[in-house]
Amino acid sequence: MKNAMMMIDGESVAGTATRDAVNPYTDEAWATVPEATPAEVGRAVEAAQRAFHDGWRRTPGVRRAALMHALADALEAEAEPMARMESTDNGKIIRETRNQMAFAARNLRFFAGYADKIYGRTIPLDNPGLFDYTRRRPFGVAALITAWNSPIGLLANKLPPALAAGNTVVVKPSEHASVTTCELARLAAEAGFPPGVINVVTGGPQTGDALVTHPGVAKISFTGGSATGAHIAESASRRMVPVTLELGGKSPNIVFADADIDRAVVGAVSGIFAAAGQTCVAGSRLLVQRPVYDEVVAAIAARAAAIRLGDPLDPETEMGPAANRPQYDRILGLIDAARGEGAELVCGGGRATGDRLDTGLFIAPTIFGDVTPDMRIANEEVFGPVLSVIPFEDEKDAVRIANDVDYGLAAAVWSRDIERVHRVVDQLEVGTVWVNTYRSTAAQAPFGGVKRSGYGRERGADALDEYTYTQNVMIDYSGSARDPFTIRT
Ligand code: NAD
Repeated sequence: MKNAMMMIDGESVAGTATRDAVNPYTDEAWATVPEATPAEVGRAVEAAQRAFHDGWRRTPGVRRAALMHALADALEAEAEPMARMESTDNGKIIRETRNQMAFAARNLRFFAGYADKIYGRTIPLDNPGLFDYTRRRPFGVAALITAWNSPIGLLANKLPPALAAGNTVVVKPSEHASVTTCELARLAAEAGFPPGVINVVTGGPQTGDALVTHPGVAKISFTGGSATGAHIAESASRRMVPVTLELGGKSPNIVFADADIDRAVVGAVSGIFAAAGQTCVAGSRLLVQRPVYDEVVAAIAARAAAIRLGDPLDPETEMGPAANRPQYDRILGLIDAARGEGAELVCGGGRATGDRLDTGLFIAPTIFGDVTPDMRIANEEVFGPVLSVIPFEDEKDAVRIANDVDYGLAAAVWSRDIERVHRVVDQLEVGTVWVNTYRSTAAQAPFGGVKRSGYGRERGADALDEYTYTQNVMIDYSGSARDPFTIRT
């Protein structure tokens, strides 16, 4: 049994109480994770404050970059054991967790490149006696809170820009998947990060609450459910702490009749069955134009039936289990509700059984056809391998259905008609649009949502704005006295 440790002020901390980390494939405990007390959370924030004021914010960017590259090197060297631990912790298939470790290292290097290039502007003013320039300053201690579906992948969107900009951090991973985040903190300490720059506290909502309400926290970046995000934003507003929110989605994958149908089907499968649908950008609503509706549904159902479910550590496995029991129960509950409200079950519809699937929390790839936009299954995030297929007539109809949900995270358009693509992209109320692809990503490309999917951006240059504020400096070098009773322009 592995005993994960928190990282507070450069020290590994076992904590006084622990909870079990359960492998969703075997349904057995495989590690223990500390349950931080509010006092331990306080110690972590105070250590981060000291590290910020005593050194990190004045550490030259080139030095911060070197440490970030060193952490990227360590992560690459440890990618295989890290990927195996992550797959054991949350059931995500090893192919994907290997990719995610590589992507995390890539993101560290991407933002390391910015660490010595975060600078302001000199601004010419109307008054020639005034000299004006801006500086981009770090906030101080950033609280980084992540969900269980991709602990390292999600942290890799937050930690690199936060550090590059000169903030120190206290990270809180999900109580359902914490082990790899603890390991990353250990790698960071070994890579030479000074004590207090990267702290990790573990535990559930109470730990998260103690962190986001601590007066020493100057910035919050949160990835998780929309209800939790709204709660955190509300409490942060009382202290005017800026928040970045990466929340849920109900993303439309829109297939027009003129699309390359074979590619669109692959995109639809990738959108909903990759990661067993436990991804914020899941293309959980497949909008299909009437003339190709039957063809598309039949092709996806055939592909869904052939998906290899099994051990997440087996490189041949295409879909693993639900990541934890509460999520498993929730997915099954929403499948039952969809049946209850009259959605047509095309395939799946419950627990997956079979060879090597008995102990794990497996859900059969599930497709509901002829879903109408008013149904609960067309509006609520499932965060599981459950697809709602909704027919549409024309472009106007597609855009109306696509936008008619509370969320606005991502969307895809499948079409060969370039004019149509531009028209539709222009009308979609989402933070990411894919055209003739799904679930593609890059370190350079900004990512985030609108509406109930949150605000702020991760990845790309935009992410740096989340971790800096602009300080304007105005210097009077005219040498002349001024009228004290009017504003000087
Ligand atoms: P969750 O909201 O239950 O938990 C997320 C994190 O918040 C966990 O670390 C949890 O312990 C913590 N938390 C819970 N209550 C808290 C509180 N009161 N104060 C502070 N922290 C608190 O979400 P989840 O079930 O872990 O994750 C699933 C959700 O995450 C889905 O809705 C999914 O769409 C979303 N998600 C979004 C993105 C994105 O980038 N937009 C990526 C992955 C997951």
